[in-house]
Amino acid sequence: MTYKSFLIKYAEIGVKGKNRYLFEDALVKQINQRLKRHDGGFLITKEQGRIYAEASEEYDYDEVINALQHVFGIVGICPMVQIENKDYENLKEEVAKYIDEAYEDKNFTFKVITRRADKNYPVISDQINRDLGEVILTRFPETKVDVHNPDVTLHVEIRQKINIFSETIPGPGGMPIGTAGKAMLLLSGGIDSPVAGWMVAKRGVTIEATYFHAPPYTSERAKQKVVDLAKLVAKYTGPIKLNIVNFTDIQLYIYDQCPHDELTIIMRRYMMRIAEEIAKESDCLALITGESIGQVASQTMPSLAVTNEVCEMPVLRPLIAFDKQDIVDISVKIDTFETSTLPYEDCCTIFVAKHPVTKPNIKRIKKSEEKLAEKIEEMMKTAIETREIVRCI
Ligand code: ATP
Ligand code: MG
Repeated sequence: MTYKSFLIKYAEIGVKGKNRYLFEDALVKQINQRLKRHDGGFLITKEQGRIYAEASEEYDYDEVINALQHVFGIVGICPMVQIENKDYENLKEEVAKYIDEAYEDKNFTFKVITRRADKNYPVISDQINRDLGEVILTRFPETKVDVHNPDVTLHVEIRQKINIFSETIPGPGGMPIGTAGKAMLLLSGGIDSPVAGWMVAKRGVTIEATYFHAPPYTSERAKQKVVDLAKLVAKYTGPIKLNIVNFTDIQLYIYDQCPHDELTIIMRRYMMRIAEEIAKESDCLALITGESIGQVASQTMPSLAVTNEVCEMPVLRPLIAFDKQDIVDISVKIDTFETSTLPYEDCCTIFVAKHPVTKPNIKRIKKSEEKLAEKIEEMMKTAIETREIVRCI
C-alpha cells in the first residue's frame, strides 16, 4: 500500500499552554527541513493538535520514515489515508479499501476507534465504530472483532477531513530543536560526547561543537572522525557548526611548564575556557561535555570540581550518572558507536601522565597555571582566531 500522507504525533509539546504554537511551529520547521532533502514534495500542515505531512509526488517510504524518526518532538508517525469526501457511505467504502490494501493477510482481530472532532458530523462515534466494524466483518469474513486486545486498532478521526490509520511507528520523542536555545558541545572522537550532545539536543537545544585538535600528535584521520561524528549527530539535530581549534602549542606549553601529573586537568581547564569563549561569541547559553563520575582520573568528583571552576556558563553533563554500558547502548542506538570506536588517537590520550592526579588541589593547580602567565592569554587568543569552522550536515 502506498500512503500519500502521515499523521505526526507529538506529546510533550501538547502541554505548553499559550506557547504551544511556538513548539508546533518549531516542529513543522524541523520536519520541513528534514523532508526537503527527500522526493515527494511534502506539504506540512497543522490542524488543532495534529501535524500532517502530505506527499504531492512519489517518494521513498523507508527514507521518509527514517528521516522523521530523526526529528525530536515526534512520538509517533502514522501512515494514513485522508479523505475529503466525508459522505458516510464513502467513508465505509474507503475503510474497506484501506483494510484491503494495508493488510494482505486478513486473519486478524480488530477494533475501530472513532474520534469525532467535527461535532456537526451526522453520525456519533459509537455508531460509526459499529457500522465500520460491520463493514469490515462483512467484506473480510476472516477478520474478528476483539475490543480488549486487538491485533489491529483502526483509528478514524472525523475532522475537517477524515483520517484513517492503524499503524504508529515510534519517533524519537523529546522536544523540537530550536525551542530551548543553543549550547556548545565539547566534541571529541570518543563514545561519550556525541551521546551527550544528542541527549541535550533531544530537549530542543540547538547544538554547536568545538573539537581540540593537536597536529601532528593527532592525525587528520582523528579530525575526520570527529567531523563524521558531528555529521551523524546532525542527522538528529540539523546542521552543526564545528569549531576545530588547534591545541598543539597550548598543550606543549603546559607540558613544558607544569607538573606532568597535573597535565590532564590543566589541559581540560584550558579546553573549557576556550570553548566558553567561542560559546559566548555564538550566543550559546551552556557548555556540554560527555563526562561521567569516576570514568577516568579527570572525572572524579574533585577533578570535575576543579575543571568546572573555570566556567562561568552552566556546564551540562547529561551522562554524569550513567554507567559506560548505558552510554554505549545509546551510541549504538543513535549510530555513533562504530565511528567512535575507530582507533585514531585523540589529543588527551597522547599527553596523559602515567599517574594523573585524581584529587587535584585547586590552589596547587592555580599555582601551576601561574607558570603559564607569560604566554597563555596570547596563545588562547591565537587558537580561537585561527580555528577552522566546518559545517556538518
Ligand atoms: P569521550 O568519549 O567523549 O571522548 P572520554 O571518556 O574519553 O569522553 P575525556 O577524554 O576525559 O573522556 O573527556 C571528557 C569530555 O571532555 C569529553 O566527553 C568531551 O566532552 C571533552 N573532550 C575531551 N577531549 C576533547 C577534545 N579533544 N575536543 C573537544 N572536547 C573534548
Ligand atoms: Mg575522549
